[in-house]
Amino acid sequence: MSYGKRPYNKLTPIPFYQVEIDDKFWSKRQKINREVSIYHQLKMLEKDHHIDNFRVAAAIKKGVHLGEFYFDSDLYKWLEAASYILHTHDHKELSKQVNIIIKLIEKSQMKDGYINTFYSTKFSQKRFTNLNYMHELYCAGHLIQAAVAHYEATHSKTILNVAVKFANLIVRMFLRRKGDFVPGHEEIELALFELFRMTEDRKYLELAKEFIDNRGINKNLKWKILSQYLNMVSTLNKAKKINSKFKKEQLEVEINKRNDFDEIENFYADLNLIENIKFIYSNLNGTFQQLNIPVREVLEPVGHAVRAMYLYCAMADLYSESGEELILKVLKRIWIKIVKAKMYITGGIGSIKGIEGFEKDFKLKFNKSYSETCAAVGNLMWNWRMLQITANCKYADLIEILLYNAFLVGQSLDGKRYFYINPLIAINKENRKEWFLCACCPPNFIRTIMSMGKYIYSISERGVWIHQYIGSKGNLIVDEYKVKIIQESEFPWNGGVKLKIESIKNQKFSIFLRIPNWCDETKLRINGEKFQNMISAGRYLEILRNWKDGDNIELNFSMKPKLIESDSRIKSNRNRGVISYGPLIYCLEQIDNEHIDIFNLIIPKHQEFKVRYEPNLLDGVNTIEGTTLTDETFTSIPYYAWNNRGINKMQVWNKCI
Ligand SMILES: [Zn+2]
Repeated sequence: MSYGKRPYNKLTPIPFYQVEIDDKFWSKRQKINREVSIYHQLKMLEKDHHIDNFRVAAAIKKGVHLGEFYFDSDLYKWLEAASYILHTHDHKELSKQVNIIIKLIEKSQMKDGYINTFYSTKFSQKRFTNLNYMHELYCAGHLIQAAVAHYEATHSKTILNVAVKFANLIVRMFLRRKGDFVPGHEEIELALFELFRMTEDRKYLELAKEFIDNRGINKNLKWKILSQYLNMVSTLNKAKKINSKFKKEQLEVEINKRNDFDEIENFYADLNLIENIKFIYSNLNGTFQQLNIPVREVLEPVGHAVRAMYLYCAMADLYSESGEELILKVLKRIWIKIVKAKMYITGGIGSIKGIEGFEKDFKLKFNKSYSETCAAVGNLMWNWRMLQITANCKYADLIEILLYNAFLVGQSLDGKRYFYINPLIAINKENRKEWFLCACCPPNFIRTIMSMGKYIYSISERGVWIHQYIGSKGNLIVDEYKVKIIQESEFPWNGGVKLKIESIKNQKFSIFLRIPNWCDETKLRINGEKFQNMISAGRYLEILRNWKDGDNIELNFSMKPKLIESDSRIKSNRNRGVISYGPLIYCLEQIDNEHIDIFNLIIPKHQEFKVRYEPNLLDGVNTIEGTTLTDETFTSIPYYAWNNRGINKMQVWNKCI
């Protein structure tokens, strides 16, 4: 991720590597990802042939490409995450592994710059013939992002040179060429913006803009989609034949030992008739890939949620570089539509299983939450961009909800298991897995958590913005002078926050403090003195003064358990409520409530809930206790922490009265 000032943004983000996270809650999660998950994921990538595909492409191993046609992207995302770790930590073993992977990628590049192990090993004549379905540009985008991250971390140009060579081939193939060249899964656009920012070469910016502008302009979309779909089916069938021929010839080669290797086939086989119809219909009418309408005419979000999020990120990047007001207007409109009518209480999005995407307004059945982890990651990425563009607090509020709920639930506390789909109710079979055939979520999780320092601070001409209350040391530059913000935070277990300013020079500037929208009462002291002015929730509080070294701010955001009732327009949630505490959404897990059936209890709305910190439970959590209508005590835990004690019933939306 390349940072720096964008011409039309109100804020300039502070990169994660200038923010040292030292937080009671998040440091533990980052440590596990840095020390356990990154190696565990590498092991899984090796086991599932992601890395072998590069060995085959580089002709250093005999064999065929195995697995899904987009497998390369998962290794690239892992490389991006590993680069973030190496940027801030000296890990010799990880550095060694990264260099091995980079050499392998470099060797698998074709002479003209092309890299995609599925096509280069099996169908090199068919390169770039199916942009809608075959993810070559999606994989290329992740290669470029990994390369930028690695270069920023190490200043080594090896993988950056590989990515630039491929990017230049893509530019030669598509820039200012006739035809509606559109990537079916958005991602390359974001990478091209990053490459433009790093190299200042405008051709990357122009191509990203063309890919965005080309959406929704094809008059014969149905036929194009149909022919590309059939082309995909035929290509994949041919690939299968090649694989089985190879398997017969090479009996000693062990190919994927996991039992769930057919999980994608099972996914489609499991769809019911209506889900199947919706899947086919949304493909043909272009909504699945956000191709139904030009981007400047979009009225609401449609289709596959991860694709949509990446598109909105790309549109936000386009606004940041061009200042085109219409683009920003469209993005603001989409955001309101999502938040008001198409997003779960956790921040999760995507409620139709087949298309992994958006349903009609208020169709957010609590028992049908899809909420792919990658969609939460995409939502974070997009809201971070919207925040830098507008400086509007609502985007930072949503980032907080996403971080503590829809995103964090995606990984187990031991850092080794993941949810792809994040249910809001579990009937006794839902369980995180070590890995998936479609392994997009695990490396997306780790690259996000290892770069989450970027969500905490920004600067503007007026001063410093504090978006998230996460213990950290933020190294900032205000008016050319270094300012360090040292933050201590008790989040999410209570609302105490201390900020200390270290500065070599007294300076007059503003500090903007986010007052979270869930907070009913905020107490604030500056150098021990009580702040008397009114403080409103859901806004930034600006404090303009002459700040000097050692100044401190004490904040106390009241955190109380609440019972949030569902919007009555969501039919299935009527008479149901969710327990929340500060930014956290709570759930009931059967293991904590053995004496009652969590699906049948009724919670009276008006009651005093009890909050108790349990240091030995789930790495330390606040539990919330309450009483049911029949006077039994129930215990709830933070939603992110469920499914860490075996398979279990769980429910977020509880009946209430
Ligand atoms: Zn995913």
